[in-house]
Amino acid sequence: MTLDRLPPFNRTALLLDLDGTLIDIAPTPDTVVVPPGLTAVLARLRDRLQDALAVVTGRPIETIDTLLGDAPYAVAGEHGGARRHAPRLPIERPNLPSPPTAWFESAAALAAAHRGALLEPKARGFALHYRLAPDAGPDFGSALSAWLLGDDRFELMAGQMTWEVRPKGVDKGSAVDALMHEPPFCGRIPLFIGDDVTDEDGMRAARALGGAGLRVDAAFGSPAGVRAWLTAAARTGDWPELPGGPLGGPLGGPLGGPLGGTA
Ligand SMILES: [Mg+2]
Repeated sequence: MTLDRLPPFNRTALLLDLDGTLIDIAPTPDTVVVPPGLTAVLARLRDRLQDALAVVTGRPIETIDTLLGDAPYAVAGEHGGARRHAPRLPIERPNLPSPPTAWFESAAALAAAHRGALLEPKARGFALHYRLAPDAGPDFGSALSAWLLGDDRFELMAGQMTWEVRPKGVDKGSAVDALMHEPPFCGRIPLFIGDDVTDEDGMRAARALGGAGLRVDAAFGSPAGVRAWLTAAARTGDWPELPGGPLGGPLGGPLGGPLGGTA
């Protein structure tokens, strides 16, 4: 089941990616800038949606706390590898393996060998960023693929100028499912907004629950477009027209990957 229009505002559970969706991508993960007023807009939206606002990100939850404070009610971090269902609850982690230490060491050596490349450790994996070392992308990809060949507990995800090694079994879709089964999200209709291939799992999950999954590029043009739309929604208490105009088929347009445009 999919929607052909946005959920009614007062029945929506709003699920938002961070990088490339709420904030602009920066040369390195540590240099992102939270635009002035964004946390106030999110806090106002959270209030209007009776707390049904979550950030669903690949970042650690602690980073979201640093960047956005308590504006989101719930946070799913590390692509579903960590969840906090309400502001003061402990972080829940599905029981997942961590990559071998040797992989971290080898990844650190790879990053060190390419000026500008960056290794970002995560609780159950790591990301190799090559935005400032674009020529290294293919080498990183083939090296990581070779390591993973002998260990089917982990998978390699291609992100925005990033390769990420993470345990199988969780993704942004499982995070959306888990959030939508708990108050204040359960009983509402999910609206997921994201920009990246890893967000497509979240979009599929939202659509499978009768909600909508919107791609930033198609529906809003840019993170600035997302922010302007959310700002208007926070002001009026309703969803404005989408800047990208009406989208054909399932709301949000077709997804790439194995489900094609059928999700
Ligand atoms: Mg993103």
